[in-house]
Amino acid sequence: MEKLSKEIIEKGKKLFESGKVTKDLDTPKRIYFTVRGTTEKHSVIFEKEKKEYNCDCKFNSLHHKRCSHILACMFKEGV
Ligand SMILES: [Zn+2]
Repeated sequence: MEKLSKEIIEKGKKLFESGKVTKDLDTPKRIYFTVRGTTEKHSVIFEKEKKEYNCDCKFNSLHHKRCSHILACMFKEGV
């Protein structure tokens, strides 16, 4: 796993603790989450086969790193 900044972990934890993460759908291949951030809503998808999280936010698509939304989902799943 790549190095994560403490700030992102803290942010993700806060999102999870304040109940901003909703698990929408759990299918055999994917789990769909919605994370309500401070300004917008984000969709996070967990690919079960690849064990990979993807988020639609800019941070994730620009840096290819786990963003706070993904972290929030990981906390929810107890990873
Ligand atoms: Zn994100």
